[in-house]
Amino acid sequence: MQVAVVGAGVIGVCTAYFLAEAGHEVIVIERRNNVAEEASYGDSGILAPASIAPWAAPGMHKAFLSCLLKSESPLLFNRMLDPALWGWMRRWLKECDVNRYQLNRARMHRIAAYSDQIMRQLREQHQLDYEQAPGYLQLFRSERDLQLAQPAFDFLAAHGIAHEVLDASGARAIEPALNSHTALAGSLHLPADESGNCALFTRQIRQLAQKMGVEFHFASNVKSIRQSDQGVEIRLDARNFTVDQVVLASGADSAKLLAPLGLHLPTCAVKSYAATATLRNFESAPIAAVMDESYKVAITRMGKRIRVAGIAELGSRTTELRQAALNTLLKVASDWFPDACNYNTASFWSGSSLMLPDGAPLIGATPVRNVLVNIGHGSTGWAMAAGSGKVLADIVSDRSPDIDLEGLTPLRLD
Ligand SMILES: Cc1cc2nc3c(=O)[nH]c(=O)nc-3n(C[C@H](O)[C@H](O)[C@H](O)COP(=O)(O)OP(=O)(O)OC[C@H]3O[C@@H](n4cnc5c(N)ncnc54)[C@H](O)[C@@H]3O)c2cc1C
Repeated sequence: MQVAVVGAGVIGVCTAYFLAEAGHEVIVIERRNNVAEEASYGDSGILAPASIAPWAAPGMHKAFLSCLLKSESPLLFNRMLDPALWGWMRRWLKECDVNRYQLNRARMHRIAAYSDQIMRQLREQHQLDYEQAPGYLQLFRSERDLQLAQPAFDFLAAHGIAHEVLDASGARAIEPALNSHTALAGSLHLPADESGNCALFTRQIRQLAQKMGVEFHFASNVKSIRQSDQGVEIRLDARNFTVDQVVLASGADSAKLLAPLGLHLPTCAVKSYAATATLRNFESAPIAAVMDESYKVAITRMGKRIRVAGIAELGSRTTELRQAALNTLLKVASDWFPDACNYNTASFWSGSSLMLPDGAPLIGATPVRNVLVNIGHGSTGWAMAAGSGKVLADIVSDRSPDIDLEGLTPLRLD
């Protein structure tokens, strides 16, 4: 079958790889000049299936309101009067109920755990090195933050997922460079989780996909998609492609292609920020990845560099670098690893991920014939990419996926 994938982020590239592996003739259409140039570029690098959780969690509505009043906040707003944004927020607030949280988290965990398995297979099969490091530590500055995380600890215990709740000295035994002057009420260590470099991984999978015959068309902006007698017509500025099926893996901008097809999905583009700096002091740097849960900022070792990333900005559709967000990143990095780098030399970046109110992605067929989606992976898309690509390829190939797709396909929106 001829299949086109729109978007060459980590999701689109993994999808193309598995479609080619299943024997399809695959083209990837990407508006940028290379793979992993948007959300997949500035990714924090955390592969944490064990701790993957929806944003919509019990107690988050109170945390959300307090964020509105803080200058250094994990959450920022733009276009406050946009009715679509408030509609999305209303749906998100409903998902903060504890039962909805447990259900949504279990769905996300199902695809992320599967993805972890597929990624390890890929790594072994192709001897991939994408600056991976084992282990992941979540830091809680206050007792209140620890209490808010209790449903997450309960989830880990209920699902038998390896984890340790540690005090400050336990956390420092795992990451010895953590600054002892910064208040730390406790931490959660997830030994089976990992970190790495998402853009590097995506480039490696592109090479493998190309070797299997996948054609990449860069600098090619898809304007619209239409059904035709032959299948699907994909319209660009200068040329059109006609294929049997199309998979939209177009990330934050997917709504622009879906809405004209009558597909109005409850998605929201969430903008995040990243700062990357070269290490000057290896023993003062993290060994792997830590997440400051109070600020929702991740600090990840990527080879000889550190990436500090986080902040969720709702309603922004630009790549403008907001100073308040950059200040928060630098504050958190300096709080925990003050001597690891000269943060004044950091390079800054911002990009957006697509999120649904309940947090789980949408993988599979849409009500529009021959149009499939692999979208909505939110702030944990890399951790779900390999599994999402494999599942999507199984659906196109009429094969039964290895996991139950309950709650992970567009059917849950019916
Ligand atoms: C700062 C930051 C940190 C993150 N940290 C983590 C993390 O630690 N762990 C984790 O698992 N996830 C993380 N995420 C989330 C993860 O990076 C995303 O979920 C993932 O990269 C999404 O991949 P994607 O391929 O769907 O999107 P993208 O990488 O954005 O790719 C979509 C592609 O589609 C192309 N496209 C869109 N419209 C068109 C069109 N009309 N025509 C042609 N091409 C088009 C775009 O150019 C783009 O290349 C982070 C995200 C951000 C922004």
